Amino acid sequence: DSRIKLLEEKIRTYPDFPKPGILFRDIFSVLADPRSFQVMIKLLEEKIQSLCPNVDVVMGLESRGFLLAAPLALALSKPLVPMRKKGKLPGKTKQVSYTLEYSTDTFEAQVDGIKPDQTVVIVDDLLATGGTMKAACDLVTSMGGKVALCIVVIELSDLKGCEEITAPFQSIVKY
Ligand code: 5GP
Repeated sequence: DSRIKLLEEKIRTYPDFPKPGILFRDIFSVLADPRSFQVMIKLLEEKIQSLCPNVDVVMGLESRGFLLAAPLALALSKPLVPMRKKGKLPGKTKQVSYTLEYSTDTFEAQVDGIKPDQTVVIVDDLLATGGTMKAACDLVTSMGGKVALCIVVIELSDLKGCEEITAPFQSIVKY
């Protein structure tokens, strides 16, 4: 697909960011080019339409996931629900904690965002170890929702993050 090729060309790679030894894949270089941004959203939308056309809710993961989930929610005419780091969302929230290599992080979502048995597509820019996506799946499930699909633009295949996820998983570009 020539559209995937275009995306691969636009995604910039930064060695040693944010720490030495990390090869950072930057999605903002795609957003900086309107045609590529449009193509990226269209590719995500097509996958969602073909795999779970009747999904109820689009969940975006802080923070780059928001930039993809927002245009997708509009294109699909579905509600957008954010998952954020603890302490940033007002009102009643549901929380999930997950352990990174050396620390614990807590994510949360507003409880009225997902109603029991609603199906959810979870959107983020990139899957690395899969910890963030797994936490999002656990959060959706704990709210009574069902994860219909987890979708990212970039998958770092070597890290085998998709093995952490039991729900259906899709990515556009693999490294
Ligand atoms: P994981 O939890 O799968 O290890 O990491 C994925 C999360 O970290 C995503 O929310 C993603 O935004 C961020 N992340 C990790 N590495 C990169 C990277 O190389 N590029 C970008 N854009 N995000 C990354």
